[in-house]
Amino acid sequence: MKIGVLALHGAVIEHIRTLRAIGVEGVPVRLPEDLEGISGLILPGGESTTMRKLVARWNLREPIMALARSGAPILGTCAGMIIVAREICGGEEPVFPLLDVTVERNAFGRQLDSFETDLQVPILGDRPVHAIFIRAPIIERVGPGVEVLARLPDQRVVAVRQRNVLAISFHPELAGETRFHRLVATMAAEYAEPAEGAGGTERWPLGEVM
Ligand code: GLN
Repeated sequence: MKIGVLALHGAVIEHIRTLRAIGVEGVPVRLPEDLEGISGLILPGGESTTMRKLVARWNLREPIMALARSGAPILGTCAGMIIVAREICGGEEPVFPLLDVTVERNAFGRQLDSFETDLQVPILGDRPVHAIFIRAPIIERVGPGVEVLARLPDQRVVAVRQRNVLAISFHPELAGETRFHRLVATMAAEYAEPAEGAGGTERWPLGEVM
């Protein structure tokens, strides 16, 4: 089972290393043909405006939308979260309108440009997640059908999932945090070889993955 990492720009190698740490092959995706044979895709952090341009330049939009619609798990981290949102504050066009949320880019302003904190993410178990935020977005609006996976102490939403699409504001791949990647790998294995009787993309129960 292979999981792709969009490798146009940004924190690519860190995701590939995190996948390797859990025994999964991470494949850099630069061209549509690189998506062949992968069972999930990670969209890394970086600069969403740059990714937007490169996705268009290399004709990746349609094939990645098709992969997501087929039910393969997609994990967007930071800029990756921005590019899976259906709505971006300020009216920028969405890139992959997969997740029914509105995101605000660079939501923490100058003072808190970058910071680290420990977060509770109940689906990953009791041990808190060490979350590194780097010029991070937050989720302003959560649509129906979107599960909130984590909030900051002030209640702002920083991790969500809608069926097979997960998005988080922070960078697990820079913190030695492997549980999000494990979750994606579990979903990808199920996508690659659906269990008997499983149906559609609704089939992943929250919890008990770890
Ligand atoms: N500020 C970046 C953007 O708006 C995201 C930063 C990140 O991915 N670490 O695209």
